[in-house]
Amino acid sequence: MRIVLLGPPGSGKGTQAALLKERLDVPHISTGELLRAAVRDQTSLGMKAKAAMDAGELVSDELVLGLIEERMGAADVQSGYLLDGYPRNLSQARALDDVLGRLDLPVEKALALTVDEEQIVTRLARRAEEEGRSDDTEEVVRNRLAVYREQTAPVAGYYADKRLLVEVDGMGSIEEINQRLMAALS
Ligand code: AMP
Repeated sequence: MRIVLLGPPGSGKGTQAALLKERLDVPHISTGELLRAAVRDQTSLGMKAKAAMDAGELVSDELVLGLIEERMGAADVQSGYLLDGYPRNLSQARALDDVLGRLDLPVEKALALTVDEEQIVTRLARRAEEEGRSDDTEEVVRNRLAVYREQTAPVAGYYADKRLLVEVDGMGSIEEINQRLMAALS
């Protein structure tokens, strides 16, 4: 299965992606994780990306596209993929279609998790404590949500136009949400 997973920060996207990866046996490709690894390893890409990440802004399309092109070219992606955190705006959605078209690995389904904002703020505050992520302070969280609303939410429409979008209720237990996602894929 070739899947794009959409949803605001704190929607439980990462948790669900980890479960889906096991159940579907496809690689989970998270641009946020790839970027955090680059920052940790202090690569030149990581150094360029860090300021935007710490502010809750998007890293430049060009930098992230480079990461995605490299990752999608790897052999394990032939069996399918679960993309998490990419695309984050319409220009990334178009660039992704170009890359995947060249590889003959087009998106088959876009799953969008929907949650209310209050729940998001609670979840992100918990994650800030558990993981100590530098982009989970309240001010940055608010900015990440604004960036999501303005830039990323339109990506759902992009996939709806292509008849690939399925919206899934992201409220409930981890297992309930996972079952909804699995049902949306069948
Ligand atoms: P995430 O783990 O997906 O919430 O991503 C954490 C941060 O990494 C985001 O707030 C952005 O700064 C950056 N990031 C992740 N994916 C992208 C992307 N596709 N485009 C631009 N920036 C991204």
